[in-house]
Amino acid sequence: MISASAPAKINLVFQVGPLGSDGYHEVNSLYLELGLREKVTLVQTGAPVNILVSSQTLPSRHVRAVPTDESNLVFRVGKALFDSFGIEFTGVEILIEKNIPVAGGMAGGSADAAAMLLAANHFLHEEHGTKLLTNTELLELAKQFGSDVPFSFLGGLAVGRGRGELLEQLAPLSFETHWVLAISQEGLSTPQVYGRFDELGQLTGFTDLTQPIGDIETLAKLMQNDLEPAAISLLPSIRNTLTSLELAGAIKAMVSGSGPTVMGLFESREKASQACAVLEEMGLVALVVEPTYSGTRLER
Ligand code: C5P
Repeated sequence: MISASAPAKINLVFQVGPLGSDGYHEVNSLYLELGLREKVTLVQTGAPVNILVSSQTLPSRHVRAVPTDESNLVFRVGKALFDSFGIEFTGVEILIEKNIPVAGGMAGGSADAAAMLLAANHFLHEEHGTKLLTNTELLELAKQFGSDVPFSFLGGLAVGRGRGELLEQLAPLSFETHWVLAISQEGLSTPQVYGRFDELGQLTGFTDLTQPIGDIETLAKLMQNDLEPAAISLLPSIRNTLTSLELAGAIKAMVSGSGPTVMGLFESREKASQACAVLEEMGLVALVVEPTYSGTRLER
């Protein structure tokens, strides 16, 4: 049995360029890893591949929304890795423990894929005697499974260019940040949000995101998400959540990635917890999280 876990991401800055001829948008993104992790466990069985999804922390719609067939990214990652060694993809039970909201703009599916890359690498080594791929090789493979999978694998604080997969890792933030995540009842489809972004046609341009950020106020001023108007246009209730977080004391509230999760920045755990309680009293699902800097790792 092998387990690996991978983190959620938020985009502190998400600048989006025009639609390219490949169907993707060039982005300039400042990614931050949060201490909210997916865990993928592989168990050797004598049966065909079986995927089981569970969650101790998320409302049940999140678990129900995850496919358990060959369309699940985790299946595609496993098959690709087994195929690359000429080994039939069978005899594995895959347990996915979800903590990252599904279709929430926090790369939950990408985290599953990243955890699967590492878990399957070690599973193949232990059960089939294959040579372990290096992290650099796994990071390269990650690109083919989605724009956010490389960051989910690498983690920490990083600038992402291209589709988000060309990463430059930066030093950790030099100050504390605490985040309240307001999790929406509904999900948003990433391609749909990008589609609405194209319809709205609001391009802002790219800036240098590699410079160190001095303090939390500077971070709050820097925070920007070009997809936010598109996400609000598709799900107007996001606007109320942003206002609620600001009224609850967030230094800055913003949509995470393609949404609809809304994140609020706080300077202390105490203030974040108080705001979280206010949101929960309003009937919203909310939680407090802090940044971590570990990327995808084995769990024993
Ligand atoms: O890369 P990923 O599979 O996560 O992307 C899902 C969809 O989101 C793409 O098919 C594309 O429509 C859109 N996308 C985009 N530009 C990006 C990343 C994603 O248009 N940089």
